[in-house]
Amino acid sequence: MLLAGDCAHLLSPFGARGLNSGVADAENAAWKLAFVLRGWAPESLLESYHVERHAAALENLDVTGATMRFLVPGTDAEHVRRRAVLDRAVTDRAAWSDVDSGRLSEPFWYVDSPLTTPCAARPFAGRPPRGTLPRPGPGVLVPDAPVRAADARRFRELVSSGVLVLTTAGVDTAAVTAAATEPCAPVRVLDLAALDHTGALGEALDARPGEVWVVRPDAHVAAVLTDPAGVAPALRRALGTPVSAADDARSGAGAGA
Ligand SMILES: Cc1cc2nc3c(=O)[nH]c(=O)nc-3n(C[C@H](O)[C@H](O)[C@H](O)COP(=O)(O)OP(=O)(O)OC[C@H]3O[C@@H](n4cnc5c(N)ncnc54)[C@H](O)[C@@H]3O)c2cc1C
Repeated sequence: MLLAGDCAHLLSPFGARGLNSGVADAENAAWKLAFVLRGWAPESLLESYHVERHAAALENLDVTGATMRFLVPGTDAEHVRRRAVLDRAVTDRAAWSDVDSGRLSEPFWYVDSPLTTPCAARPFAGRPPRGTLPRPGPGVLVPDAPVRAADARRFRELVSSGVLVLTTAGVDTAAVTAAATEPCAPVRVLDLAALDHTGALGEALDARPGEVWVVRPDAHVAAVLTDPAGVAPALRRALGTPVSAADDARSGAGAGA
């Protein structure tokens, strides 16, 4: 049983995160259910729903709870802090963000998810500064951009039809394509240059020659690899199959891929 939306987590309305995160719950659950029910992934994939969306709920609670505690202090200490921040905010603009975090809903980053292959060359720098997005990399929602493809005009639309393996210049596409046929699931390999007629996608991803990007159907990056040998293990991991230490070494997980 997967719980989604308000029945899974009640957030204070400050931050516009309740419905937004409910939709993200549904996006996360939908592709996993489809893949498991069609036999494309093991049932263990469904376990990752809680891991990923519970972590997202905690992040949302942290941000919205801070605003709520400021607006409606529940303890003496919270009252004292509120008074001090308001006094400081009269002259100190930096204190304004303590009055209102200004952190409206943002997609959670599945950096620590068991489905994500980490990449030491693209480390996650933690919660991004207010109003900014994290640099695209493993776990992060891909930026959107126009693409030229038979079945889509936007990148996020393109990725929703299965797992996407995106190759950049200099990649051995034959090896990547062979690896992508290993899982019995809808995985397609596309060349970034062929899709990216405006250059906006490569720029938004900050994609480098020699990289292979694995993107999930909910548009989160599962892996960024520099060795085609890492593609098969990264796909196995993204689809909820446990991977061995030897697989980890091949995909460069945590070792500066
Ligand atoms: C003042 C306020 C402002 C908000 N502003 C924002 C915002 O700006 N951005 C944002 O993202 N979120 C916002 N939210 C939160 C957002 O409204 C909720 O998170 C969202 O509506 C939850 O959607 P849901 O589908 O999970 O639950 P609900 O919207 O509660 O839907 C559940 C549905 O199930 C029905 N139901 C219940 N029991 C049964 C039953 N036994 N059988 C059949 N049907 C049943 C209910 O009638 C209801 O229609 C705000 C909330 C409030 C209160």
